[in-house]
Amino acid sequence: SSSIDRAESLIAATPDYPEPGVTFRDLSPLFADGDAMKAVCEELIAPFVGTFDIVGGIEARGFLLAGYIAATTGTGMLSIRKAGKLPKPAAAVSYALEYGTATIEAPGVLTAGERVLLVDDVLATGGTIAAARQLISDLGAETVGAAAILELDGLDGRDHAGPVHTLFHAPA
Ligand code: 5GP
Repeated sequence: SSSIDRAESLIAATPDYPEPGVTFRDLSPLFADGDAMKAVCEELIAPFVGTFDIVGGIEARGFLLAGYIAATTGTGMLSIRKAGKLPKPAAAVSYALEYGTATIEAPGVLTAGERVLLVDDVLATGGTIAAARQLISDLGAETVGAAAILELDGLDGRDHAGPVHTLFHAPA
C-alpha cells in the first residue's frame, strides 16, 4: 500500500554512525508519523494475528512497537530489558556482540506456555532476537514469532535469529 511505501521512505540513514563505515538506520521519523506507524504495526503482526497472548518488546525501540501492538490487539506486553534495569529479573541471557557481550533480562510475569510475539525495530546480526528467544524459553513460555521493521542484509541475521518477519531491507 502507499502507506507502507511512505513508511519505508521515512527511515533515515546516517553514514559513519556510531563509527566510521557503519550506516545507522533511524526509525524516529517513521514512529513520529501516525499513518506510517499504523500501517507498519498492522503489517508486522499480519502473519501472527490470533496466535499470541503477549508482545515482547526489546528495549528500547521495540517497546514503542510492543506497546502499540498490545493496545490495538488487546494483548499484554513484556518488556525485555537491558541488564541492570529490573529489581528482580526472572531470567537473563548474555550474547556476543562484535566487541564484548550484552545481556537482556525479563521480569517474572509470563505464565507457563504463554505465547509471545517478539518485536524490534531492526534485525542486524540477529543476536538480540536469538537471545530473546532463549529468554522466553528459559521462562517456560513459547515464542510464536518474531518481527522487525527493517532487515539489514549481509549480516546473516536470520541464521542466528531463526525466522523473522521483516518488512523492509537495507544494506548493512
Ligand atoms: P542485532 O545485531 O542483535 O540483530 O541488533 C542489535 C540491536 O541493535 C537490535 O535491538 C537492533 O534493533 C539494534 N540495531 C542494530 N543496528 C541498528 C541500526 O542501524 N539502527 C537501529 N535503530 N537499531 C539498530
